[in-house]
Amino acid sequence: MKTLKNLFLDELADMYDAEHRIIKALPKLAKAATCEDLKAAFQSHLKQTEGQVKRLEQVFQAFGEKAKGKKCEATVGLLKEGDEIAAEFKGSPSINAALISAAQKVEHYEMASYGCLHEWAGLLGNRKAADLLQETLTEETDTNRSLTDLARASSNEEALSDTDTASSEAAEAKTSGNLARGNRPASSQPKRQAALRR
Ligand code: FE
Ligand code: FE
Ligand code: FE
Repeated sequence: MKTLKNLFLDELADMYDAEHRIIKALPKLAKAATCEDLKAAFQSHLKQTEGQVKRLEQVFQAFGEKAKGKKCEATVGLLKEGDEIAAEFKGSPSINAALISAAQKVEHYEMASYGCLHEWAGLLGNRKAADLLQETLTEETDTNRSLTDLARASSNEEALSDTDTASSEAAEAKTSGNLARGNRPASSQPKRQAALRR
């Protein structure tokens, strides 16, 4: 009969594998980002993630176990989608918005996993492990929030400025009436676009 402790240790091994995969993926995300702040955010989360691996080893230790990984299929899938979206949107003004969305899916998976692990460690009476897991949960939650802030500060608007020639011509034609009311299509705002690409 499998116990809560078995469940806890299984999930811990899942996250140990996930964090190792994320360490390999973050430099690729940083390289793909064209927004300097986003690049820096990925690099700083890489440093944090290396610490999270160490912290997971301490949690295994707190349960008298040796650290081990168990292939996390969810992270494999989320990172594969991230690779695909990065390749598809390379060179597009939507690239940073695309990378943020891919990264936020990973952060949400981590938040759900560490949230449960933290609770279970508490139920199993291991205060030390619960505290360590809370520290990582806080880092993932903060990272997710920073990504939302970066999207709102520039990446989403930059993505919105992306209009292909055909649709921007259609927009010009359609909004010629709007121009009189001061609404200009994004494609006719070179200054604003330059500012956003900063
Ligand atoms: Fe993590
Ligand atoms: Fe998993
Ligand atoms: Fe993370």
